[in-house]
Amino acid sequence: MESVMKYARVALVAPPLIEQEAVRIFVIALQNRWEREARVAARYTLRRPLLEREYVAELEHITAGDLHRLEKYHLECLKKVETIVRCGLTSEWALPVPGCSKCTWLIDKRIISLSGWWVEYKERTIAALAKRTCGESVCTRPFLGEALKYASKCESCGQKDLLNDLSEFSDRLAVEIERVISTVKLDLQFEADECKSQVT
Ligand SMILES: [Zn+2]
Repeated sequence: MESVMKYARVALVAPPLIEQEAVRIFVIALQNRWEREARVAARYTLRRPLLEREYVAELEHITAGDLHRLEKYHLECLKKVETIVRCGLTSEWALPVPGCSKCTWLIDKRIISLSGWWVEYKERTIAALAKRTCGESVCTRPFLGEALKYASKCESCGQKDLLNDLSEFSDRLAVEIERVISTVKLDLQFEADECKSQVT
């Protein structure tokens, strides 16, 4: 029986089910006090905008406090990934950045500033991450296609074939996004309950 339960818990957080039913699975995990599954499911809930998520009946089984903690987790993750895009693109992992010398200002291989089409790219990236807070958001073909459109506004960048460079850059950005998301801790109330019961 124990091995069946173990298998069921693994299956519960495996794609594609978790991608489609993250909120439901989050609730089930909370109800059963399955910490690992709750954290995995919470992370998958980031792939849909918090306020546009569809209602699922299971939500009736968690408290407003549980939902608040999930919302807080979403906001913290979004804040962290926004910071990468606004301030982190001058970090070492971002090199080499696609673009010409007018759009990417580098001194001694250090990025000093990104201008031109990068301004629009950053704003669109933040908007995409607000809808789906995960690395995958910045690597999709439509997203890269849009970015190439902004890049073509620069005469010099427009003459280059930036697709490969942009695609490699986006992969590195996606890794960084996932890394910072993994540093955000979701507060789970049943952890606190367990601490209380250990003390008493
Ligand atoms: Zn340029």
